[in-house]
Amino acid sequence: MKFISTRGQTNVGVSAAYAIKKGLAEDGGLYMPESIPMLSADDFTTLSKMTYNERAAFVIGKFLTDYTSTELLEDAKNAYSEEKFGIHPAPVHKVSDGLYSLELWHGPTSAFKDMALQIMPRLFVRALRKTDEKRDALILVATSGDTGKAALEGYRDVPGTKIQVFYPTDGVSRVQKLQMQTQEGKNVSVKGIRGNFDDAQNGVKRIFADEAFANILNDKNVFISSANSINWGRLVPQIVYYVSAYLDMVNSDEISFGEKIDVCVPTGNFGNIFACYIAKLMGLPIEKLICASNVNNVLSDFLKDGVYDRNRSFHATISPSMDILISSNLERLLFLTAGAEKTREYMKRLADFGRYEIDADVFSIIKESFIGFYTDESETRETILSTFKNKNYLIDTHTAVAMRAAEKYMDTHKAERKILVVSTASPYKFAKDVYVSLGGINTVGDTEALGALSSMTGTQIPTPLSSVLSKEILHSDIIGKEAMDNAVLDFVSDQ
Ligand SMILES: *Cc1c(COP(=O)(O)O)cnc(C)c1O
Repeated sequence: MKFISTRGQTNVGVSAAYAIKKGLAEDGGLYMPESIPMLSADDFTTLSKMTYNERAAFVIGKFLTDYTSTELLEDAKNAYSEEKFGIHPAPVHKVSDGLYSLELWHGPTSAFKDMALQIMPRLFVRALRKTDEKRDALILVATSGDTGKAALEGYRDVPGTKIQVFYPTDGVSRVQKLQMQTQEGKNVSVKGIRGNFDDAQNGVKRIFADEAFANILNDKNVFISSANSINWGRLVPQIVYYVSAYLDMVNSDEISFGEKIDVCVPTGNFGNIFACYIAKLMGLPIEKLICASNVNNVLSDFLKDGVYDRNRSFHATISPSMDILISSNLERLLFLTAGAEKTREYMKRLADFGRYEIDADVFSIIKESFIGFYTDESETRETILSTFKNKNYLIDTHTAVAMRAAEKYMDTHKAERKILVVSTASPYKFAKDVYVSLGGINTVGDTEALGALSSMTGTQIPTPLSSVLSKEILHSDIIGKEAMDNAVLDFVSDQ
C-alpha cells in the first residue's frame, strides 16, 4: 500500500513507514492511502473471534503493508496492555435501549488520545528503522491539554526520540497542567507558554517551517516530527475501535451481523470521526456519522450548508478539546469526495479567505454519510445531569456534547437504528465542570473536585488522575512565546 498527498502534487506514492516518519506530505497536504482496503465477510468472521490486540494488528496491517503482522501484534500488545488499559481497551457500555457508549478513555491519561498515542510511537520507531534513519527524532507538540499528556506518555523513554511539549500556561485545566508538569521520563521536556493555544501552535509551526533551524538541528543529528492527527500513524489505530465495537455488539447480541448502526462523535480536528468514515468505507455496517460540535460550530454549519467559514469568534468552552476552528482532517474527507485538485483549491481559499464553499456534487456525497448537530454550554451541563439521573451513567463534557447531539438526531430522525456515542474522556478529567453540572457547589477547587465528584456519584477516580495530585512537579518552566526556538535548542543540546 502506497500513500499519496491530499493535494496531489507529490507524484509518487510513499511507503507507510515514510508517511509516518514525515507526518506531512511535501506539498503541504496530508498523506492518504492510495485506496481503501475492504474487509470481506471472511475477514469479519475472523475478526469477531479475535482479541482487541489481534483486531488492531489485523486492521492496521491492511494499511501498513510494510510492517509484518508479528511486528504489529507485538506493538498492539505493548500499547494496549491490561496494566495500562484494564481488561478491555475500548469497551461498549449500554446506556439505554438502542443507545450505546464506546468508552475510549481507559488508558493512562484518561482521554481517547491514548488509543492512538500508545501505539503510534512504536510504529514510529519502526518507521525510523525501515527508512534507515540515523538521526534522532524530536517530536514537537503544541497542546490545548489532552494531546500533550498523551504524547508525553506515549513517547517517554522511547529510544531514538525526544519529545517537547508546549502548553498555554493559562489555557489548560489544573488537572491537565499537573499531568504534564509531573511527567517522568529521560527524553521529555514540558514548557508553559505565556500566551494562548494559538501562540503555542504558531510557534511550533514556525519552527517546523524554518529551514535554517532544521539545518542547525541536522548538524546535531536531530530532525523534527509531529504527533498530531495530521499524521496517518495516529489515524490508523483509531479505525480499529470502530470495527472492534461493532463486533463486540454483535457478539453480545445487541445487534445482528450486518445490521446498520449510526455513530455519533464529539469532534474537534475531525480525526476521530474521519477514522469512523474509513471504517465505513472498509465495509463496516455504519449508516450515518453524526458530527457533534460545541458552540465552536464551524463543522455542524459546514454539514448544514456546504460552506466552511472560520471567520467567527472563538469560544472557550467546558469541552476545550473541541475548541477548534480549523479542523485539519476535513481535508482528507475532501480528498476522498472531491479529489486532489479541488482539495487544493479549497485549502487555498481557506488559507487566503478563511472560507470556502464546496461544489454541490461533493456536498451531496458528504451528506449521504454525515450529519452535524451542535450543543451549547447549558445543554452540555443539562445532559451530564440528565444522563446521570435518568440513565445512571456519568459522562464528561465532551461526551455530553455528543450525547445531546445524538438525542437531537433521534428527535428529528425517529431513531431507526441503534446509536453508538463515542465517549472521549473520563468524567474525572473534567471533574469540576461535571461536578458543578450535577449540582455541586461551583466554588470547589479544581483538584478538590475529583474527590467531591467521587463521593457524590459513588464512582472511582481513575488511578492515573488520583496519583497526579501527589506526584512531584518536575517541569515548572514558563517561557515567552518568542523563546520557543531557544527552548528547543537547549533541550536538544542537553541530551
Ligand atoms: C481530541 C479530543 C476530541 C476531538 O477529537 P478530534 O479527533 O480532534 O475530532 C474530543 N474529545 C476529547 C476528550 C479529546 O481529547
